Amino acid sequence: MHTQPTASHFINGAYVEDTSGTPIKVIYPATGAVIATVHAATPDVIEQAITSARAAQVAWAAMTGTERGRILRRAADIMRERNHDLSILETYDTGKPYQETSVADATSGADALEYFGGIAASLTGEHIQLGEDWVYTRREPLGLCVGIGAWNYPTQIACWKGAPALACGNAIIFKPSETTPLCALKVAEILHEAGLPAGLYNVVQGMGEVGASLVSDPRVDKVSLTGSVPTGRKVYAAAASGIKAVTMELGGKSPIIVFEDADIENAVSGAILGNFYSSGQVCSNGTRVFVHADIKEAFLKRLAERLDGAVIGDPMDPETSFGPMVSKRQLDIALGYIEKGKAEGARLVYGGKAIDGDGFYMQPTVFADVTDDMIIAREEIFGPVMSVLDFTDEDDVMARANDTEFGLAAGVFTRDLARAHRVAANFQAGTCYINTYNDAPVEAPFGGMKNSGVGRENSKAAIEHYSQIKSVYVRMGDMEAPF
Ligand code: NDP
Repeated sequence: MHTQPTASHFINGAYVEDTSGTPIKVIYPATGAVIATVHAATPDVIEQAITSARAAQVAWAAMTGTERGRILRRAADIMRERNHDLSILETYDTGKPYQETSVADATSGADALEYFGGIAASLTGEHIQLGEDWVYTRREPLGLCVGIGAWNYPTQIACWKGAPALACGNAIIFKPSETTPLCALKVAEILHEAGLPAGLYNVVQGMGEVGASLVSDPRVDKVSLTGSVPTGRKVYAAAASGIKAVTMELGGKSPIIVFEDADIENAVSGAILGNFYSSGQVCSNGTRVFVHADIKEAFLKRLAERLDGAVIGDPMDPETSFGPMVSKRQLDIALGYIEKGKAEGARLVYGGKAIDGDGFYMQPTVFADVTDDMIIAREEIFGPVMSVLDFTDEDDVMARANDTEFGLAAGVFTRDLARAHRVAANFQAGTCYINTYNDAPVEAPFGGMKNSGVGRENSKAAIEHYSQIKSVYVRMGDMEAPF
């Protein structure tokens, strides 16, 4: 496949290049080979993106929701038709195995385009009768939105932000992570092929500074970031000084609680999906697995047997189920945490090592006998490192599960219905699971409590974050005034 894009940026309906921007090498994580080079946006490129987006947004907002939605739904169909090629590109960009990308990336992007395309025509205000007077509300777009993406789901993030923004009548400028710049350009191409007028979905490349200059521009009305908590703090603060709307999808250290009555096979499946999918590089991962002491050894034994079935290798091979880390840097971060876990006295029960070769591979890793105060139980690792902690009492494990700065996701495995719902109600997390883990359908709100974020993506909830309400008071009789 040809991985070098036509040009670095997509602005006003066309590819745009400016080679005076800092070069960004795109590295295939499975081999370490350079597969493309793009250039960071210069101030001139950023200016082009902002001016064309603002100009295009006015006519877009004036179209009917049905017209806007039709374009998004057409884009969804094109994405599905091209799923194979888009999945290969996602695998080049991220290193995630084709077995995953072919079912989780362009497909979930298409779901978002279809869902928000479908909802666009039904976005309305309301009528509020006040005696003979009345108020009506108009649901209006925010204007120009900026989306800033992380590197783990470049296609999905580009669509999760773009689809609701466009459905509500906004324009968007998307800045992918410098680590994975390729996929969002394809999303832009497809949207325009589907009939999106020029200027409404723009992609600009660059490091954090490009994101920062977009966020601080007074012509930008809303910022949606997917990234780490430290970056979230910076972006939120910059947006606050311009009183801009924000959505923050940040990190996590989510708990999975496995009670003694749980179906162990299902609980092991949940722990595997919640720790090793995408080589552990998923924000909502349940990396603190609390297992009831009565079933702990049975759980660990079955987990190890199942992990022996992981096929680690060439991500393009459809049989491969566990690929490399996205970058050497992320590999080193994860390996560093493994050393910290060992030094703190956690029991390494599976994996723990890098895998020799040019790619950024490491073994899926499990620590048992982890305690709440250990660094590996407190900090987000963003790699395939599972911590298993013991418990015996529900109230105690609930308090421990919630004792974290994060609140993105949480899961419980039990056959006791009342307990399942009680635990879900008590979790301090935005996205909770009962007897499953890490499903993220577009129909359900997704996002974090506490330091894991602000606002929600997906579902009808996202509409609130990409539109604003205007009230119009209508007086039917004469106005009274005191003098
Ligand atoms: P980072 O926070 O490092 O970066 C996120 C994005 O923000 C990148 O595009 C980055 O640019 C950009 N950025 C960095 N600094 C600034 C700044 N000052 N102003 C504006 N933009 C800036 O996260 P990673 O890319 O390393 O992604 C991993 C993190 O993302 C994890 O913590 C994970 O939990 C979180 N995440 C959250 C998800 C969620 O939905 N809650 C989903 C997926 C990931 P660049 O990197 O190019 O310099």
